[in-house]
Amino acid sequence: MKKLVSAGEILVEIMAERIGQSFLEPGPLVGPFPSGAPAIFIGQAAALGQPAGLIGAVGKDDFGQLNIDRLHALGADVSAIAVHEGHATGTAFVTYRPDASRHFVFNIRNSAAGLLEMNDAAERLLDGANHVHVMGSSLFSDRATEVALAAIAAVKAKGGTVSFDPNIRREIMQASGMRQALDQVLAETDVFLPSDNELFLFSSAGDEPSAVADLLNRGIPCIVLKKGADGAAYHDRQGTVAMPGFAVEEIDPTGAGDCFGAAFVSFWLRGAAPAEALRVANACGALAVTRKGPIEGIHRLADVEAFIAKAEMLA
Ligand code: ATP
Ligand code: MG
Repeated sequence: MKKLVSAGEILVEIMAERIGQSFLEPGPLVGPFPSGAPAIFIGQAAALGQPAGLIGAVGKDDFGQLNIDRLHALGADVSAIAVHEGHATGTAFVTYRPDASRHFVFNIRNSAAGLLEMNDAAERLLDGANHVHVMGSSLFSDRATEVALAAIAAVKAKGGTVSFDPNIRREIMQASGMRQALDQVLAETDVFLPSDNELFLFSSAGDEPSAVADLLNRGIPCIVLKKGADGAAYHDRQGTVAMPGFAVEEIDPTGAGDCFGAAFVSFWLRGAAPAEALRVANACGALAVTRKGPIEGIHRLADVEAFIAKAEMLA
């Protein structure tokens, strides 16, 4: 089976307990939850049985250990997660505003995550990899961007493939060359996984069909648009496959896009038809929102298959 690798931020997420809670005054918090978009992605891919590993950096502290233990338990290759003494693992404090948007306080670049580098362990992991997944949020510094571009170059040199989720988090994406880096990654992308509003950061077309057509014309082989509770749509030069989402009660949307992407890419790497990859991805995205905490929303293949079978029986 093909092995996929991602590189980027590993952190713990600490969440405000109440919607609308402000961080300008004390209030109840829950967590720490292991997190970081590439960590969620790799954890979900591993839980689906896909060989998957993460290039990352944590501090020699409980938050780092929590992440490594969880990823290892999910079956991910953690051999390229560096543990740095004297640096704390990255953190994100999250609160939900009454309009359902999220507000973050991040400490990524100045945490152990900021020490991300292409070291021997990372090179060994890439030696055995066929695919690299890049999260836009992982381009949080020039140094992290260098790692992502080096990983892409390493797999592309041996005929491997690349997927890309812009996962825009403006609070952490302040590297000087950010715009250029996003475009550089897009130019190497085989599977592009934006949420529908992120599409317009990469095309100046005025509506969704024109933006999709524009990107396909510019040589992106396939585009998978994530549409929250409405599901997702796959586009390539042959046409479009749209699929509604599964009906679930949303407890916490964090991580849905990452779990969706991991499932789509894992099944795409297995040669699944777009409709099948979309179905499993929609199921993983839907299941992800039923749990509080990003990595807590990851489900294993057998549970995902049982969820799909039950939903189809009720339909
Ligand atoms: P994030 O970056 O916040 O993780 P995203 O914007 O990248 O998310 P979304 O479109 O929010 O991605 O979610 C990804 C996928 O998860 C959707 O395409 C859908 O399949 C599933 N999903 C998300 N929210 C829901 C929901 N409320 N009900 C059912 N499925 C959902
Ligand atoms: Mg996302």
